[in-house]
Amino acid sequence: MIDVAIIGGGFSGTLLAVNLVRHEGPSALLFERNHKAGLGLAYSTSSNSHLLNVRAANMSALPDDPGHFERWAQAECGAERTSFVPRATYGRYLNSLLEEARAQAPHQLTVHAAEVIGIRPEGEHFQLLFANGERQQARRVVLATGNLPARAPAGLDPAALGDAYCNDPWEGELMPPAGPDSPVLLIGTGLTAIDAALLLREAGHGGEIVALSRRGLIPRVHGAPEPVPPLPEAPAADTLSILRHLRAQAKKIGWRAAVDQLRPHTQDLWRRMPLAEKQRFLRHARVWWDVHRHRMAPEVAGQVKHMVAAGDLRVIAGRILSAERTETGARLEIQRKDASTQTLKVGRIVNCTGPGDVARSAQPLIRSLLDGGLARPDELGMGLETDHLGRVIAPDGAPNSSLFAVGPLTRGSFWETTAVPDIRRQVWSLARMLSNAHWVGGEGL
Ligand SMILES: Cc1cc2nc3c(=O)[nH]c(=O)nc-3n(C[C@H](O)[C@H](O)[C@H](O)COP(=O)(O)OP(=O)(O)OC[C@H]3O[C@@H](n4cnc5c(N)ncnc54)[C@H](O)[C@@H]3O)c2cc1C
Repeated sequence: MIDVAIIGGGFSGTLLAVNLVRHEGPSALLFERNHKAGLGLAYSTSSNSHLLNVRAANMSALPDDPGHFERWAQAECGAERTSFVPRATYGRYLNSLLEEARAQAPHQLTVHAAEVIGIRPEGEHFQLLFANGERQQARRVVLATGNLPARAPAGLDPAALGDAYCNDPWEGELMPPAGPDSPVLLIGTGLTAIDAALLLREAGHGGEIVALSRRGLIPRVHGAPEPVPPLPEAPAADTLSILRHLRAQAKKIGWRAAVDQLRPHTQDLWRRMPLAEKQRFLRHARVWWDVHRHRMAPEVAGQVKHMVAAGDLRVIAGRILSAERTETGARLEIQRKDASTQTLKVGRIVNCTGPGDVARSAQPLIRSLLDGGLARPDELGMGLETDHLGRVIAPDGAPNSSLFAVGPLTRGSFWETTAVPDIRRQVWSLARMLSNAHWVGGEGL
């Protein structure tokens, strides 16, 4: 019987496994279906134009050793604390942590290449079902399966568009269209779309890249490193107060510091917001929050600027009215923000709109959890509902003390659980709890 089964070997699952070893906690088995364990979606890219969007100084995987990555990156590739290093380098870092932990505790930590497709309660335990038909029992399970696959945007029928449509830009390291000079439409203008544009250019794609979103906003760029004074008092937990607070603080300390200053409070603010307020925030403030909070590295912003100036990349604000397959790709009717309409002929459409919602997820594991009565969607449908300790909430509202979720799957419950600085704390706390180290005073963060 496995003591702790960790499902997903990306940043969240890997780091949980590493921290269980560091806390001399229970034995764990880490299951990963696709990538090499210790990489996950973000850090398995091999492209050197894919840079971290956080400086090396703030990318330590270990919250009790904030300079850990900085020292590793300095020794590995001479990176400075203010550098934005390639994500592939970060993948090597994460992998080295996993390998170290495995070498240190070979009997405590095991990694297994397998897809978990179902979980069933069985008395005091869980039965894990694997895609290859095998089964295994576990006392406790941690879901670290990452972002849910994107959902096709309104106005698009993936089946009718066939191979002119790509729903997942990460699948197979992206794909230039059949005609190397035909335009590509990226739906979305966030960091994923920027990544896709850089990848297409790197792959030698010569045609125009059009990035489309409702408002046509692209991520802002990081500035020079600056001190961020701690925020003595967080604003009230409603959209208007938060926006007013940010505007006022931005005047005093600059918008970047104002956003960064709020970060230690965002999870608490989110958890205190009533549902209607969360919905209001998502409707009116989310895109603004995202472009200011999730910023581009200056090198990436420079490349984007260059592509726009050269006419290789065009960002437009609007929405898709319809899309149909053509012999060479797809033809779309677009309604622009100024209400004018436009026809766009492209070789391929790539969905860069970000993670989909949990209730409509077709992933076997998610379906098994929801349909089997072990979990319920959070109130916004962004992920699974958990309590403040990460315990998964059952449909009857009771937290399950043996089933946990970490990382982007808990976004609806905590909001900011997608970046390294947030996840490293979350998994650290969970590792301490699973190891009973949270009873030991002193070294908690
Ligand atoms: C492109 C990109 C760039 C980013 N850049 C940064 C950055 O620069 N700085 C920063 O702080 N944050 C960044 N992030 C955010 C953050 O680091 C990631 O969201 C984080 O890595 C999430 O890790 P995860 O392990 O939860 O998810 P993932 O990395 O998605 O890993 C989940 C893993 O679970 C596996 N899995 C899923 N289901 C199953 C199953 N049923 N059975 C077995 N295995 C399964 C998947 O194959 C996958 O490997 C980035 C995110 C993305 C997507």
